[in-house]
Parts: sequence; structure tokens; C-alpha cells
Amino acid sequence: MKAVVKTGKGKGLLEWRDVPEPKVGPGDVKIKVKAVSVCGSDIHIWHDAHPYWPPMILGHEFSGEIVELGPGVEGWKLGERVVSETRTGACGACPACQAGAPQVCKMKRPPGIGRDGAFTDYLVMPARLLHKLPDNISYEQASMIEPTACCVYGLIERVRINAGETVVVQGPGPIGLLTAMVARAAGASKVIVSGTARSAGLKLQKALEIGATRVVNVGEEDLEKAVLAETHDVGADIVMECSGSPGAIEQSFKIVKRLGKIGVLGISGKKEGVMVPWDVALFKAPAVTFCFSSSWTAWETVIRMISSGILPVEKLITHRESLAKWHEVMTVLESGKGIKAVMSPEA
Ligand SMILES: [Zn+2]
Ligand SMILES: [Zn+2]
Repeated sequence: MKAVVKTGKGKGLLEWRDVPEPKVGPGDVKIKVKAVSVCGSDIHIWHDAHPYWPPMILGHEFSGEIVELGPGVEGWKLGERVVSETRTGACGACPACQAGAPQVCKMKRPPGIGRDGAFTDYLVMPARLLHKLPDNISYEQASMIEPTACCVYGLIERVRINAGETVVVQGPGPIGLLTAMVARAAGASKVIVSGTARSAGLKLQKALEIGATRVVNVGEEDLEKAVLAETHDVGADIVMECSGSPGAIEQSFKIVKRLGKIGVLGISGKKEGVMVPWDVALFKAPAVTFCFSSSWTAWETVIRMISSGILPVEKLITHRESLAKWHEVMTVLESGKGIKAVMSPEA
């Protein structure tokens, strides 16, 4: 089968190669990939700006059909439509795993990052990580369950949004836009999405289409003023930092209300760290929650939300292509001219 392989450590080093089909071990299922969406971290791995353990096939946001059951697998059938969580390798024994948070285990090696992923025809995953897809969720929608689960985990399970709260989402990339969509579905009264001039056309426009009540192009407008005007000079109940930009990270503390909540979903890529206005933060006393990855419960919640129609995630798809066009697709996304791209190995 053909696969997009990150062949070693360094910039670039992605190759379209022939690889053998994977073999199932005990407890595993073999999945025929039906759709795989491109994540920002795939682009970061391409450019050596995200952890990864090569050589491995790229791709962790996927959906597919079960085509083989390994020894000992129970409760699953051939032909079932599934998605899979990505916490392969989590040890099950460390304090994080024992506390019910295997997604932050330091031994975790997700598909597409620390083992073979889904930019190919078939991959093997442990059956215990699967979630069954309802018939009314398409494979294309399902390929976006993983990133959406990170947003639901962050905003609903960790930051604990309440209905009626005002939410600022910084960074209108896929994670920011999905977070904005989740905020509306969870009952936010206002959802303000901010982005740079580069994102003003496509992404901020999309934010309005999917339920943002206000967008701010920070190249033209002062976000702090805009947020204060929208919140009667109080500040936002919740700021979801989805940009990873040092300027926006610093800004989070200025636009959140006193005793408000800041949720962090964006990776900065800065090895040297970023600035936090420490005393502003201290005096305002917000709760800051880092929201890495997702939980089993968030996956189930997302599946119910998409199935019921309250999270139309497919609205973020700007590109639908065959996997063979992966290089073109990743180049377009990197240039900022796309939001979510879904690829199919079959097309
Ligand atoms: Zn992802
Ligand atoms: Zn562990």
C-alpha cells in the first residue's frame, strides 16, 4: 500500500512510499481508512516543530471500517464503522494513567506521531480505543471527531463552560473554529473569535458562519477594547487560547474578567517559552487550565453532538482530495488558504 512516511528527524523528510500492510496482534483491529483529515500538528511534524518518533506513517484524525479482528477481540464485528482514540502506548501504570488521564501519559505514542498512522490504506489500532459511529455520521465528519474531542474536553470537561457565559476564542484555525462551535452548542451567550489579518478573509468569515457573534481582526482592531465593549467593561468569562501566538497568550490575561477562566489549546512551538504578564494575572486571579488532548467521555459527547446535528463540523471542510494529493493539500493549508482538508485513500 502507499503511505505518507516521515522518514527521520529533521525538516521535510516526508515521502510517498510503498509499505507493507500492517498485521494485527492480540487485541487489535485492522481498519480500512475511509477518511483522514489533516491536523496542524501534521504540518508541524513536516517542519520538525512538534514531537514525533520516526519512521512512521503520518495522520491521526481518521475514520474507517473494521476489516480484520486480532486474537481475543470481543464486541466488534467486521464491517463496523469506527473512529479511534489516539492514546496508544499509554502505560496504564503511571500516576496520570492511574488517575484516569492516559492522554497525558509520557509513554503515549499516538498513531501518526509515535507509530504508524492513517495517511495510507490500512492501520492497526487496539480495539479498546475504538468508538462506534452512528449511521448518520459520515466518514468525512467522523475524521474530525478527534480534534473536536480535544475542544469538548477543553471547554466543557476542563474549563467547565456554563450556559450564558461569554467566550473569546483566540486563533481561528480548525481548533479555534471547532471550539467556537462547541461554545455555541454549549450555550455561550457571546462567542468572539479573533485572528490576524492573514486569517481575516477565509477564517474569520467562517467563524461568523458557524456561530461566532463577533470577529476581531487584530491587525485592524484592538481586541482588548472590543472585548470590553462586548462585555460591559467586565472582560470575558472565558478565553480559549487556540493560537499559540505569544502576543495572544499575553493578551489572554488582559481580556479575561477578574476570576474568569483561561483554557489553553494552542501550541506555541517556542522552545524558549512565552511571556505572561504575571502581576496582571495575579491581581485578576483567573483559573488557567491547560487542556492537552482528550478523554473517552469527550469522544462519546462529540459523537452524540455531531449525530444530533448541533455540531456541523463538516462546515469547516474547505478541501476534499485523494490521499495521493497529500503534498498539494498540506501546502495549501500551510499557506492559510484552507481550513480543514479531508483526504481519502480510495478517491
Ligand atoms: Zn490533530
Ligand atoms: Zn501512563
